[in-house]
Amino acid sequence: MPRADPAEPTGAGPGRGRVTLVGGGPGDPGLITVAGLRALREADVVVTDRLAPQECLAEIPAHAEVIDVAKIPRGEQTSQETINQVLVDQARRGRHVVRFKGGDPYVFGRGGEEVIALTQAGIPVSVVPGVTSSIAAPELAGVPVTHRGLAQGFTVVSGHVAPGDPRSTVDWAALARTGTTLVVLMGVHTLRRICTRLLADGMAPTTPAATIADAGLASQRVVRATLDELPDAVDAAGIGSPAVTVIGAVAGGDLPGTGDLAARGLVR
Ligand code: SAH
Repeated sequence: MPRADPAEPTGAGPGRGRVTLVGGGPGDPGLITVAGLRALREADVVVTDRLAPQECLAEIPAHAEVIDVAKIPRGEQTSQETINQVLVDQARRGRHVVRFKGGDPYVFGRGGEEVIALTQAGIPVSVVPGVTSSIAAPELAGVPVTHRGLAQGFTVVSGHVAPGDPRSTVDWAALARTGTTLVVLMGVHTLRRICTRLLADGMAPTTPAATIADAGLASQRVVRATLDELPDAVDAAGIGSPAVTVIGAVAGGDLPGTGDLAARGLVR
């Protein structure tokens, strides 16, 4: 007797396709949720990209097909519309489609757009939350986003458009005054402009900061510096995407990082 599952979208079944968005965490195969792993094990097709934890693909059934949307012709240029269409087309073939994403589906992952597109197409969809890199990447490097006496909150922003860019909707001057930890995703290329702007808006040059790249992977790297010196330090270290930057007193602490969980025997 199959167990009733509240996460199971109604109307799904043989001949009726459905889609599950799975947030796979920052990259370590130990940081996917139990529900996310279960969905992968029940997939007929997995639509993945480079930020999803690739090692978890070893768990999918032998018959399951993998579509890497970063490898559709024109690579990372794959538009959201194209990805949405792939999800719709695959589900209409009666399959259980897992959209496998890095971190959490609703943190800059455009998961909400996928849910809307599927709902409009009449396809049942459910979302499995994931461990977001905005919190886990700093944590794996020993940087808490809040810490008693140091930060009462944290603010997560995307740095994909720089301060001053007409497409930016972020009030950087307000951010410089929040008194919360600042966490910047998608901000490697714009890091210098972000730091310069925060300094111009009155943040102390000596504010501790850290950039964490490839968190949860064996290639994890951390650069720590003060706000005024972080861009040079990140350049000198040759840091590339994906990386998270943390700005605030918490980045100057001395908690130990856990890094690669597998290397420490914490998974498997
Ligand atoms: N939905 C994802 C974020 C997608 S935006 C989440 O919740 O984590 C992509 C950005 O996530 C990258 O530019 C980088 O800032 C961050 N990121 C994702 N995986 C990462 C990792 N393993 N290490 C460091 N940053 C990571």
